[in-house]
Amino acid sequence: MSRSCAHVGADGRPCRAAPLRDGSYCFMHDPEQAEEAAAARRLGGIRRRRESTLAVAYELGGLQSVAGLRRLLDIIVADGLSLDNGIGRLRVLIAAVSTGARLLEVRDLEARIQALEAMQRARQRRTATGSIPRRDEPQRP
Ligand SMILES: [Zn+2]
Repeated sequence: MSRSCAHVGADGRPCRAAPLRDGSYCFMHDPEQAEEAAAARRLGGIRRRRESTLAVAYELGGLQSVAGLRRLLDIIVADGLSLDNGIGRLRVLIAAVSTGARLLEVRDLEARIQALEAMQRARQRRTATGSIPRRDEPQRP
């Protein structure tokens, strides 16, 4: 049986985090951990602010899309090119070429799949309206 934290929020909803081993509250809500929890919240806030500042400065859109991945790769390549030449720099650039090639492949495959799906949908619409005969129907001369 899983226990959950005894804290109830200002909105009346209970905290669903797991309580500490010998207590009834989670780390964030245990009165005995209040100081540490406040420090953790402060650090979390600093980290989130820093992350959003960096995201704006580098125009990062996250890694959930090919465009976002490409943007980060562009930054890595720019940084890699500005390093002194050496085996480390060359490795960074080779890895970037390889990763970039994979991203192009994914982008091309996505485009081809979308085109095929669009063709399939158009074909289904034409078949449903009877404007083209189905393959198993006899063709009229
Ligand atoms: Zn809690």
